[in-house]
Amino acid sequence: MHSKTDANSSPAGELRYPWESHPGADQVVEIAPGVLWIRLDLPFRLNHVNIYLLADGDGWAMVDTGIGNDATIAAWTKLFDGPLKGMTISRVIVTHAHPDHVGQAGWMVQRFKCPFYMSQIEYLQGVYHQVRRSEERLVNSRQFFRRHGMDEAITEQLLGRGQDYLKKTVPLPAAYVRLSNGDDIAIGTRSFRVITGAGHSPDQVMLYCAQDGLFLSADQVLSKISPNVSVWAHEPDENALGSYLKSLKNLTNTLPDDVLVLPGHGVPFYGLKTRITELSDHHEERCQMIAAACKDTAKTSAELVPVVFFKHKLDAHQTGFAAGELIAHVNHMLAQNRLTQALGPDGILRFSAA
Ligand SMILES: [Zn+2]
Repeated sequence: MHSKTDANSSPAGELRYPWESHPGADQVVEIAPGVLWIRLDLPFRLNHVNIYLLADGDGWAMVDTGIGNDATIAAWTKLFDGPLKGMTISRVIVTHAHPDHVGQAGWMVQRFKCPFYMSQIEYLQGVYHQVRRSEERLVNSRQFFRRHGMDEAITEQLLGRGQDYLKKTVPLPAAYVRLSNGDDIAIGTRSFRVITGAGHSPDQVMLYCAQDGLFLSADQVLSKISPNVSVWAHEPDENALGSYLKSLKNLTNTLPDDVLVLPGHGVPFYGLKTRITELSDHHEERCQMIAAACKDTAKTSAELVPVVFFKHKLDAHQTGFAAGELIAHVNHMLAQNRLTQALGPDGILRFSAA
């Protein structure tokens, strides 16, 4: 097991990363007594996801499960034959319905015959995504991307991604226990407050243990990258960014600054409020770029993608994520009256700075 580096005397609020390195594929790192950290591989540019185990009486509560592919099952099998040998999973808690978190929930729950916890919206979201896409959903998605000025080739590429969820998740457990914002749940000797937040996903579960200053932030606050906040075709007018920023504000207002943050990706860190300020500023910067670009001529979302993501060379696949993020910023700015929109005779939306 890795040991913690000296946490010494940096000023309150500053970002600090007590673990210099992350656990390797066959390793388990003890974060605190009864809190274990595991890292599983992902087949994406974001190449890993964190799993946490919390001591729970005779067993361990697992928070998130990894993506639903064979490599992850092999990784879990190795861990249960190695450093986790003899350990029982008492329950599986999943923070949100994205495949890298919920992907192996069905497999894990089956293996340990244990209860499965999610928020209601995230569970239903997972069920919804596992339902094979219908022609109506396809037509709706095509319309959505075309309205935002994506050309036919990119639109078709984006639609192809809709099927992926099934390939990245094993069937969800057929029953769950609901976690709701404000619930207090006992896990072993610790009590955790359930805090939910929207923006990255509709009702993501975070867990806060006041007595030990631990905050499992899921993907809402990450150490080094900005969580994806996107708008998609099934709720085209959603103000996902507004919800996300509101959730960050809620965390700032309700949590102390000296918590150890255990994120869904990256490494654990101190400096929650500093990180939240960075994330909020990052989105405001993007809004300002959009406002500047829409000042003299109205622009489509497709035209705004390169304005905001000019640092990245995007292939069609990444353009999909960029498009969702861009529309999230545009919708937020519409809600704030910083932009106005007009639907052209060509059926495409264009935005002007108000
Ligand atoms: Zn994630």
